[in-house]
Amino acid sequence: MELYKENQLKVYNSLTKKKEDFKSITEGYVGMYVCGPTVYSNAHLGNVRTFMFFDVVYRYLLHLGYKVRYVRNITDAGHLENDADEGEDKIAVKARLEQIEPMEVVQRYTVDFHDVLKNYNFLPPSIEPTATGHIVEQIEMIKEIIEKGFAYEVNGSVYFDVHEYNKKENYGILSGRKVEDLLNNTRTLDGQSDKKNPQDFALWKKADEKHIMRWPSPWSDGFPGWHLECSVMSTKYLGENFDIHGGGMDLKFPHHECEIAQSQTCSGVTPVNYWMHTNMLLLNSQRMSKSTGNFILPNEILSGENDILPKAFSASVVRFFNMQANYRSILDFSGDALEASEKGHAKLMEAVTFLEKIEAKNESTFNVEAWKKDCYAAMNDDFNTPILISHLFEAVKLINQIKESNASLTADDLEEFKNTLNAFVFDVLGLMNENSQDSSEKINGVVELLIKLRKEARENKDWALSDQIRDELIALGIQLKDGKDGTTFSLN
Ligand code: AMP
Ligand code: ZN
Repeated sequence: MELYKENQLKVYNSLTKKKEDFKSITEGYVGMYVCGPTVYSNAHLGNVRTFMFFDVVYRYLLHLGYKVRYVRNITDAGHLENDADEGEDKIAVKARLEQIEPMEVVQRYTVDFHDVLKNYNFLPPSIEPTATGHIVEQIEMIKEIIEKGFAYEVNGSVYFDVHEYNKKENYGILSGRKVEDLLNNTRTLDGQSDKKNPQDFALWKKADEKHIMRWPSPWSDGFPGWHLECSVMSTKYLGENFDIHGGGMDLKFPHHECEIAQSQTCSGVTPVNYWMHTNMLLLNSQRMSKSTGNFILPNEILSGENDILPKAFSASVVRFFNMQANYRSILDFSGDALEASEKGHAKLMEAVTFLEKIEAKNESTFNVEAWKKDCYAAMNDDFNTPILISHLFEAVKLINQIKESNASLTADDLEEFKNTLNAFVFDVLGLMNENSQDSSEKINGVVELLIKLRKEARENKDWALSDQIRDELIALGIQLKDGKDGTTFSLN
């Protein structure tokens, strides 16, 4: 029987502001859409926090036996410098500054994003569509919204009519904002706007002469509004009504609110059953953000080349650090916090590595079944990774007791315990054991190098250095053996 049948997942739905039983539209299948990065610069660790959480959601759904279609887009056009539909396209600005083609900017940062995802052990989504790959579909959706009477054209640009929509539906259903309040709070840009009302948002913008990212349309040579691509691509690949839509909290308004309005207008049904939003990663008590310069890049953490951290940290430690916090809480990033995570992570990995050496006994002193239930209960409770980790540390405690012969497991329990622990650590949380293959290859390389240096020392009759290398390796548990075909080594 598939695990999802015996695990009732609960999801905090930002739309209803309640934890709800998760029920997928089609039994056994889940459709999930997550807003992807705008590729005008390197994704920072704050972005990675959001994507990493949804990677774990994806992993857990797969673990439960769901067939998941996970769509995460790449925004490569239409995201303007501010949310009031004014300013330049972020990608075009970068292209102008660096005097390269906008698509070179897109390519550079898409490649960097994928590199980060690979280093941090992300599963690739099922589909990774781009905004520029769906211009035709975006134009079709705009036509449909105009036909339905919820959009209007002015001077070659098309705007969504929020007031008209709000007469029939609830604009603000997700963010809780009221259209009347928005009227008072929205900046009007020197009366230059073509909009009927300042809350209206662009579906299509006419490109001025400078604007190089442009496509022909029935209204003008121009480009789509940012919110449109996600309505179009989610509908195309997941249908008019799908299961989960995710993103960072900052996207709730206006981006997701506008997505709902566009999609609902076309289909007449609510597009998304469960909206999930991650909270922000902070640096120096402020939101990590590209525009304020308050950020660290994920690859800078791995290389240690940054001004924020005392040393380099592994990708798995950073993953562990992220998972120690609930996704709906803010998380403060710092070198101290990472060092604490590194210690916890090392204990967990040491225990997991020792798991293979454990021998079964006649008696179990630990209730594996109850522990396993607790692990699932934590993840079923809105993906509560910090609680899951606390249960993983109960497992670490048990392994350490077994090491000291103070606890034992029967063969069946041991099998169940190993499978469950490995599944949660590696498959669900996506952690990596640096004690395993990859690092042993590195150790082999380092020892071979020392053997070579020792050989050179002996050829130079530098017995002191040659003995020092041998003795210090012994102290580390590495034994050198000199034979007629050279020197070999063994690990104790
Ligand atoms: P962007 O590339 O700006 O569209 O952002 C990509 C994703 O990262 C979005 O889901 C944002 O909500 C999310 N995000 C941006 N800043 C942070 C942060 N400091 N912490 C967590 N998520 C963030
Ligand atoms: Zn989006």
